[in-house]
Amino acid sequence: MPVQKTKRDFPLERIRNIGIIAHIDAGKTTTTERILFYTGKTYKIGNIDEGTTVTDWMEQERERGITIVSAAITTFWIPKSGPFKDMETRINLIDTPGHVDFTAEVERSLRVLDGGVIVLDSSSGVQSQTETVWRQANKYSVPLIAFANKMDVVGADFLGTIQSARDKLGANALAYNLPIGRENEFKGVVDLLTKKAYIWPARNASPARKDNSVSGGQSDAGGEGDDTGAKFHEVEIPAEMKAEVENKREKLVEEISGTDDTLMEKYLGGQEISIEELKAALRKAVIANKIVPVLAGSSLRNKGVQLMLDAVVEYLPSPQDIATVSGINPKTEELEERKTNPEAPLSALAFKIQVDPHVGKLTFIRIYSGTLKSGTYIYNSTKRIKERVGRLLLMHANDREEIEEAFAGEIVAAVGLKDTVTGDTLCGETAAIILENITFPDPVISLAIEPKTKSDQEKLGYALQRLAEEDPTFRIKSDQETGQTIIAGMGELQLEILVDRMKREFKVEANVGKPQVAYKETITKEATGEGKYIRQTGGRGQYGHCLLRIEPLPRGSGREFESKVVGGAIPREFIPPIEKGVIEKEDTGILAGYPLTDIKVTVYDGSFHDVDSSEIAFKIAASLGLSEAARQAEMILLEPIMKVEVTTPEEFLGDIIGDLSSKRAQILSSETKNNARVVISLVPLAEMHGYATAIRSMSQGRATYYMEADHYEQVPQNITQKIVESSGFTGRVER
Ligand code: GDP
Repeated sequence: MPVQKTKRDFPLERIRNIGIIAHIDAGKTTTTERILFYTGKTYKIGNIDEGTTVTDWMEQERERGITIVSAAITTFWIPKSGPFKDMETRINLIDTPGHVDFTAEVERSLRVLDGGVIVLDSSSGVQSQTETVWRQANKYSVPLIAFANKMDVVGADFLGTIQSARDKLGANALAYNLPIGRENEFKGVVDLLTKKAYIWPARNASPARKDNSVSGGQSDAGGEGDDTGAKFHEVEIPAEMKAEVENKREKLVEEISGTDDTLMEKYLGGQEISIEELKAALRKAVIANKIVPVLAGSSLRNKGVQLMLDAVVEYLPSPQDIATVSGINPKTEELEERKTNPEAPLSALAFKIQVDPHVGKLTFIRIYSGTLKSGTYIYNSTKRIKERVGRLLLMHANDREEIEEAFAGEIVAAVGLKDTVTGDTLCGETAAIILENITFPDPVISLAIEPKTKSDQEKLGYALQRLAEEDPTFRIKSDQETGQTIIAGMGELQLEILVDRMKREFKVEANVGKPQVAYKETITKEATGEGKYIRQTGGRGQYGHCLLRIEPLPRGSGREFESKVVGGAIPREFIPPIEKGVIEKEDTGILAGYPLTDIKVTVYDGSFHDVDSSEIAFKIAASLGLSEAARQAEMILLEPIMKVEVTTPEEFLGDIIGDLSSKRAQILSSETKNNARVVISLVPLAEMHGYATAIRSMSQGRATYYMEADHYEQVPQNITQKIVESSGFTGRVER
C-alpha cells in the first residue's frame, strides 16, 4: 500500500472528528462505505453482503458482517452549501462498533470525537439498541445529527421514526428534510430551510441483495451499481408535498428560533429570518445538544448521503468549537486547562491500539492541544514514562499518508510507542497533564483456555497480552488451583472473536472451555474476624496479627479499605501489606471462588512482635482474618442480569414467553410494533447460554434478540448451593 509523505497544515475550522453511531444492522457499514466512496477514498462501491467493504478489513469482520475495530479514517469532502461551500474539508471518521458486546469500544470512541451521525433504521423506528447508543452519545454530550436510513424498505416511516426518537429518548429530533416518496418510490428529499428539492437518478442501486429487506417490487436488474447517485439534481417540490413542506418548515423555524433570543423576537414579531441566520442558530443549537436535525436517506440505494455530509460540515462542531480541555497536573494535583491551539503545550489521548498488518502496532491519538512531531520523545503522564514517536500517519481508507507534524484538533496514528495503552495521556514532560481516563465496565463472562502443546503455551501468553492491549474490556487471569488461563469479557461474541483471532493471527492451538458466568460474592451483614499468623521455628519466626471488621456496601459500590488502628497496635508500615492481603483474598473469593464486591473492610486492632513481624506475616494474617469474618457475615452470590429484547412474529409469542419464563425471566413489557411483538425482559446471564440457537428453532429463524448487561442481583438459594458445591470451595479450612 502506498505511503505518501506530506507536510500539511489544515485549518481547524474545516476539520470534523465524527463517528457514525448505530446499532447493528441499521446500516452503519453501508453508510460508512458510501461516505468513503463519495469522499474519494474508495474506487468502487463495495457490498457488505459480499464481504468487500472498506472498513471491514479484518477477516472475521467480513465473515460476520459486523464492524468491531474502532479505527480512524481521514477523508476529504467538498460541501455544496454552507460557509465552506466548494472548499476542501477534512472529515476524520472514528469507527464506533454497534454490537453491544463492545460497548466499551463505543464509549472510548465517543470520548474522542466532536460530533456524531446517528444512523436510524426508518423501517423499524427506535429500538432499544438505538436507545443504548443514543444514551451513550448523550453521556458524553456528543452533538448529533440523525440519518434516517432505509427509506426504501417496506414499512419505512420517516416522521414515525422521528416521533419515536422524541417519545423514547426525549430528544429534540426534528425533520431537517422530508423524503420524496418512500419504500419503492423513495426518490429524493426536500430541504426544509432552503425549500429545494433534490432527486437521485432512478436506477442507482447496488447489485441485488441476498437479503429480502428491500421492497418486493424493486428490481435491481440492469442497475448493477454503475450509477452511484453522485449525480443527483434539483427539481420542483412535488405539488402534493407543498403544504407539508410549509408545515414542517414552520415547525423547524419555530424550534430554531426558540434557541436564540434575537431570532425569537423576529419570529414573534412576524419578521423574515434569513436562511443564513437560521443555519447559524441551528449550528449553535446542535452543538449545545438542543436540536437533533434528522435527514432522510437510503445508503444502500445511494440516496441522501452527500446531503448528510454537507450537514456534518455545516452543523457538527469543529475542534475549535471546543475551546479548552482540562486535566490534572500530576505535580501539583491541580486542575489545569489547555487551549485548542497548536502553540499550546501538547496534550493528547491514546484511544485505540491496533495491530496493522502492514505497519505493525499503531496507537491512535486525539490531539487536544499543541503539536506532535514525528521522531521526537513525548511523555506518557499516566505511566510516567517517555516514549518515542517513530512515525505519524493519517490513515485513509486504502492508503496511509506519512506526516511530520500533527496539530491540536487532529486525529493521527503513531508508530513506535511501546508501552502506551488505551486511555493514556501523552504530553510534554515539562508541562505534564493527565486528561480524564476512560473507565470500562467489569466483565460478565469468562472462558478457560488450555494450550494444546508446550510451544502453544508460550505463544498463548504473548497472543493474549497483545489482544488485551487492543481491548481493555478483555481481561486475562490464571486460575491458581487448576493452572488454567481464564479470559473474561462483556459477552460471548466478544470472547468468540478474540479466540478466533488468537488462532488465526497468532497461530495458537488451544482447547476452549464453555463460557462461564462471572458471579461475584458479597456479604449481607456486619462481622468481625481475627487473623493470626504466628510461626516459631528455630531461628527467626513469623508474627502477624490483626482484627478486621467487614460491612456490606450498597449494590454497585465496589470495595473499600480503611485503617482505624490506634496507639501503634500495628506499626504503620504493616498497614499496606494488610490491605494487600485483603485485596488478594477478595480477588480469590471465599464462598465459591468469585471475587468479593460491595464490601468495606476496616482493620481496627492487632499486635506485633519486634523481631518476628514481617510484611508477609501481616499479609497472611489479613487474609485469614477476612476469611473468618466473611464466614460469619452470611455470604451470598451475585449474578449478572441481562436486559433482553426479543422481536418476534405474533405466532411465536407464546413459545418465546414460555421459554423466557422457564429461564427465571422477569417480563418488563410486550408491545406490538410494525406487525411484530417486542418483548423486553430481565434474564440472568446464566440462563442465556445457547439462546441464539434456541430462539432460531423456536421461531423458524424469524425472531431476533439483543441483550446487554444491566445489573447484578442475588442468586437464588438453591442455585447458590449448586454453584458452591461444584466450586470445590465450600468448607475448605484455611488455617
Ligand atoms: P451495520 O450492521 O449497521 O453495519 O449495517 P449494514 O450496513 O451491515 O447493513 C445491514 C443490512 O441492511 C445489510 O444487509 C445492508 O445491505 C442493509 N441496508 C443498509 N442500508 C440499507 C438501505 O438504505 N436500504 C436497504 N434496503 N437495506 C439497507
